[in-house]
Amino acid sequence: MTAQTVQQGDLVTVIGLEVHVQLETNTKIFCSCPTEPADEPNENVCPVCLGLPGALPVLNEAAVEAAVKVGKAIDADIPEETRFHRKNYYYPDLPKNFQITQYDEPICADGELEISVEGERRTVAIERAHLEEDPGSLQHVGGGIDTADYTLVDYNRAGVPLMEIVTAPDFRSPSEVRAFLADLEEVLEYLGVFDAGRDGSLRVDANLSIIPAEETNGDGTIDEEALAAANRTEVKNISSHKGAEKALAYEETRQKNAIQRGRAVEQETRHWDESRGITVSMRSKEEEKDYRYFEEADLPPLRVSDWKEEIAIPELPTARRERFQVEYDLSEEAASKLTSTKQVADFYEDVASEFDPDLAATWVADELLGELNYRDMEITDVEDRLGEVNRLVELVATDEITAKNAREAVLRGMLDDGDEPDTIVEREGLGKTGEDEVQQAVVEAIDENPDAVADYHAGEGGAINFLVGQVMQKTGGSADPGDVNQLLRAELEE
Ligand code: ADP
Ligand code: ZN
Ligand code: MG
Repeated sequence: MTAQTVQQGDLVTVIGLEVHVQLETNTKIFCSCPTEPADEPNENVCPVCLGLPGALPVLNEAAVEAAVKVGKAIDADIPEETRFHRKNYYYPDLPKNFQITQYDEPICADGELEISVEGERRTVAIERAHLEEDPGSLQHVGGGIDTADYTLVDYNRAGVPLMEIVTAPDFRSPSEVRAFLADLEEVLEYLGVFDAGRDGSLRVDANLSIIPAEETNGDGTIDEEALAAANRTEVKNISSHKGAEKALAYEETRQKNAIQRGRAVEQETRHWDESRGITVSMRSKEEEKDYRYFEEADLPPLRVSDWKEEIAIPELPTARRERFQVEYDLSEEAASKLTSTKQVADFYEDVASEFDPDLAATWVADELLGELNYRDMEITDVEDRLGEVNRLVELVATDEITAKNAREAVLRGMLDDGDEPDTIVEREGLGKTGEDEVQQAVVEAIDENPDAVADYHAGEGGAINFLVGQVMQKTGGSADPGDVNQLLRAELEE
């Protein structure tokens, strides 16, 4: 934690997160129902995820593998053996009246994630990360959670594998939370276990308390007792980075106002109402004992000790970013852009291995990503056309077409009309005019324009531009203006 100077009477904001992420698997965690979104409510269901009597859960290997990857990425302890528990509560989204989750033997404990906040590196401690099943989803009709006429329930989500990642109360501001969520998602996407674009794939419960500055230590840390003594609220129903920042900023102000007016902050669960931009009280905060946790006897303890060694993870974004700067001599900004997703980074390295890394950086980071971004597209949308982009870079690298034509005619044509680069080059006659032809055009331009030549020799700056224009016209725009300029000067000085 960065040291901060505090004054008497100052208040410090303390935030800890419980982040639920959906692990990308084909089937649910305890049954073989698909996790793909369905067209109709209650389509992807079976006796297991509907909690029908006598139905038994079978653990999905892919979910465990994904959890181990997350554990490795956050440098967590993965125990020899991990276990599942039943968390009991009654709510219509939970047909069994208990959720299968993990309790005192989670699959990951004591990890950390390095994040960057306004250019500075920070480490957030992760207390635990465990596997659990998602409940169903409720649809409130005719109002919000507290005003609806009635509520519909859809069990398509019930049993989808989740990982709950619990951080230490290490955040001191809502903007740090936003930075953490962005970096966390990036790591999870690199691992290939998470899809940020999937509806409902990220849900955050955020705990916030306000602590008098004099209870913090000189280095900004806060003792366990002070943390435990502080009344905190848990804000639920947050589903985006921006939503987290907004909900917490609201909650921070609300609690500070209460304290400054001499009122106590209630320890409670609050609901983030996205449309109204406020948090509303839901219930007094439940405690652990309310859930009557007990071991899930239908699932044997899971031994991951040998297996975890076989599960490999790819190089993570931060490490890759640093390597790109050193290995390809890229700026921090370029390296960041080029490692923004694993697909972009893989493609860059592919291009950089064949052509000049600098040229590759320009074409992947600026041209390709720029044009994709302009069209609201991602690299995954052109996954099967990367070979064509590679060919385009080759055309530029081997000087067959000008960079301007490559960008304005070829790349845009490829993206807008789906044509291949060579097809566009041929159709539009973009192939750079051969040297002889350009030389020929230079000689012609000089012969045909004695006035401009005289102006040039009289030292008039505009004359050369006029002549370049003439040559470009003769070559149909396919000569390189810089080259033409040089050829003209050489010819005129003879
Ligand atoms: P509970 O038993 O209520 O679930 P935990 O100890 O499991 O409490 O912590 C839940 C979350 O609350 C964690 O993310 C943790 O970082 C956070 N937390 C704990 N103490 C505080 C506090 N004083 N202020 C804000 N968040 C806190
Ligand atoms: Zn099912
Ligand atoms: Mg807890």
